[in-house]
Amino acid sequence: MTKINMTTPLVEMDGDEMTRILWKWIKDELILPFVDLKTEYYDLGLEERDKTSDQVTMDSALATKKYGVAVKCATITPNAQRMTEYNLHEMWKSPNGTIRAVLDGTVFRTPIMIKSIKPVVKNWEKPITIARHAYGDVYKNTEFRIPGEGKAELIFTGKDGQVMRETIYDFECPGVLQGLYNKDSSIKSFARSCFEYALSEKKDLWFSTKDTISKKYDHTFKDIFQEMYDAEYKTKFEEAGITYFYTLIDDAVARVIRSKGDFIWACKNYDGDVMSDMVSTAFGSLAMMTSVLVSPDGNYEYEAAHGTVTRHYYKYLEGEETSTNPMATIFAWSGALRKRGELDGLNDLVDFADKLEAACIRTLDDGIMTKDLVGLVEPGYKAAAVTSMTFIKAIRERLEASLQ
Ligand code: NAP
Ligand code: MG
Repeated sequence: MTKINMTTPLVEMDGDEMTRILWKWIKDELILPFVDLKTEYYDLGLEERDKTSDQVTMDSALATKKYGVAVKCATITPNAQRMTEYNLHEMWKSPNGTIRAVLDGTVFRTPIMIKSIKPVVKNWEKPITIARHAYGDVYKNTEFRIPGEGKAELIFTGKDGQVMRETIYDFECPGVLQGLYNKDSSIKSFARSCFEYALSEKKDLWFSTKDTISKKYDHTFKDIFQEMYDAEYKTKFEEAGITYFYTLIDDAVARVIRSKGDFIWACKNYDGDVMSDMVSTAFGSLAMMTSVLVSPDGNYEYEAAHGTVTRHYYKYLEGEETSTNPMATIFAWSGALRKRGELDGLNDLVDFADKLEAACIRTLDDGIMTKDLVGLVEPGYKAAAVTSMTFIKAIRERLEASLQ
């Protein structure tokens, strides 16, 4: 069989532990036999990050800016325990945080749905994608525990000397106080990533805040989205047959629960944190949640939403065959290959990505799956737990058949 051609390399970011093992198996069984794979390889495994003083992470992020599409394996974010385990020189920052900061991107998370696993919310027929604004608000707060009586004020001193000052509260007893901020530039990047991703996926975009209560802070988010939409995206959305829809967060929550799915829900930082956990739990399993970081200037980094599955890795090291679910990591590869194909006008590559995903779904529909999914399957459907490698080989069989 002649292999499918690529013209521009993918930025390949290898990672840690069990997902690093799966990474190699996925490449060897599902990609390399069929695609003349071109990648620029960056090893983001913790040892290499430590050896290069984390320069490798920065380099991989810059390469993503250069080429436009990356695929990333899950990586360890070091904590105190990892410092000793890996004998690290420093507690390196989260690679995802570093990459996100370089790309100024927004993370979109979408569940992979299959027939035999029904969402807890019965009327959800299609996936709901959550976009979280990952900057500022409560995550960059300044907060005080107020000891007792006294006046709390909000003060802004402009560079030109202009002062804005208002009393927040005259405390008559102990309490709490918090200062939050965000920046127009960050909100604009968020809005642009959301509009671009909605166009790229041809899905409706919803956005919600608490603008009725927060008349300046949240209202600014609403206004920035609306102004950008009217000025730059209205026509493009109409041509693509999709809509932009703003509503109060309370109303959004009610509509989301009653919806059939099939849209992107953009959320402020805290809302996105909480709602993505709710939505992913309601759809089934973290192992079936895909994630893509999209920058406002149209760079894409695909990955699984889960971590390195440490518990399974330790079993693997003891020689045990594990049943770790590779679905989200495979979909990171198919997502990245499809996007590369679209950007480079390579229909065969796009077609391969579609067929790879279809082969995965067919395998699950045939009842061959990893252990984590078996317990979630509805009565009346076939489901047998196999090891990761057996599962990947079953996908390969189906993929080969569909490529004949
Ligand atoms: P995790 O790796 O997502 O795993 C948590 C648990 O969820 C697992 O122990 C497993 O449950 C289940 N699980 C997750 N993915 C699975 C899969 N593909 N197949 C089967 N089961 C799966 O989270 P963690 O244990 O909190 O974190 C481990 C490491 O990952 C940490 O060092 C963290 O820094 C890193 N991490 C990286 C990323 C990233 O790179 N994007 C994200 C999150 C965490 P059972 O044990 O019950 O089988
Ligand atoms: Mg959370």
